[in-house]
Amino acid sequence: MKYPTHIEIHDPRFKHLVHPMSRLDCLADGFTWTEGPVWFGDHQCLIFSDIPSQRLMRWSETEGLSTFRVATGFNNGNTRDPQGRLIGCRHGYRDVVRTEHSGALTVLANSYSGKALNSPNDVIVQSDGTIWFTDPTYGIMSNFEGYRSAQEQPTQYVYRLSPNGDLSAVITDMAQPNGLCLSPDEKTLYVAESGSSHDPEVPAIIRKFQLAPQQLMDEGVFAEIDNGLPDGIRTDAQGNLWSSAADGVHCFAPDGHRLGKILVPQVVSNICFGGPDGHRLFITATTAVYRVFIDICGAEPWTHPG
Ligand code: MG
Repeated sequence: MKYPTHIEIHDPRFKHLVHPMSRLDCLADGFTWTEGPVWFGDHQCLIFSDIPSQRLMRWSETEGLSTFRVATGFNNGNTRDPQGRLIGCRHGYRDVVRTEHSGALTVLANSYSGKALNSPNDVIVQSDGTIWFTDPTYGIMSNFEGYRSAQEQPTQYVYRLSPNGDLSAVITDMAQPNGLCLSPDEKTLYVAESGSSHDPEVPAIIRKFQLAPQQLMDEGVFAEIDNGLPDGIRTDAQGNLWSSAADGVHCFAPDGHRLGKILVPQVVSNICFGGPDGHRLFITATTAVYRVFIDICGAEPWTHPG
């Protein structure tokens, strides 16, 4: 069966992850810069950010599009913790914040070594409650997706926030760490380097780190993006890594070999798995949100049923 033009097969293994009948549906459009998609299986809805307009949006199959929250403080990346609570990164407040079941907001981190964070960008939560987030400077560079502000941190770190509240800078040598995700066994951390957005000398790569008990072991470059740069990334249940890129979503095998692409008409910022059976990939891309059928679920068990 012939694949549609928006699906590029670069390796036969990709045919097990996509379907020839798989359409690319635009669910909503007209935003300024969409980001931070996260699926709520218990509510059968997608939450995502429109960063510059300071809105969190909600989309569901039955109810369509609505506004979930306004005045978000330029909320960017989102995820859920194992208790189902929404965790978000706010450029405007330069923090990582948790939405409690009551709706109250709890700031989890807003400073390191007594100085304000830059502008937390994306966040993931491990099954034991450990939170990992990136802290590039995009949200303090201009007033477009934050407030132009002085940088207080010496550089741009990746942080680990332990369940007991200890915050530590665990990766300190990246230009602009951005999206991040874990392998399904939670033994490997992947971090996207998006520094080429402002410095062409920085490679558009995804780095790989082994989670050793007390430290991270740098395992070098996992993959390079050949069109644009990596922003949000996610792994599926088999450990394949799906990355945002300028021309769409790129899928890499656990060994870093690129399996294929899903071409999207706008620059992709982030992705998440979800849908009623976990087999949909939701794609935030510039002014819109897209959905495509994927023949595998995401790695994070609490984002999909079963
Ligand atoms: Mg990002």
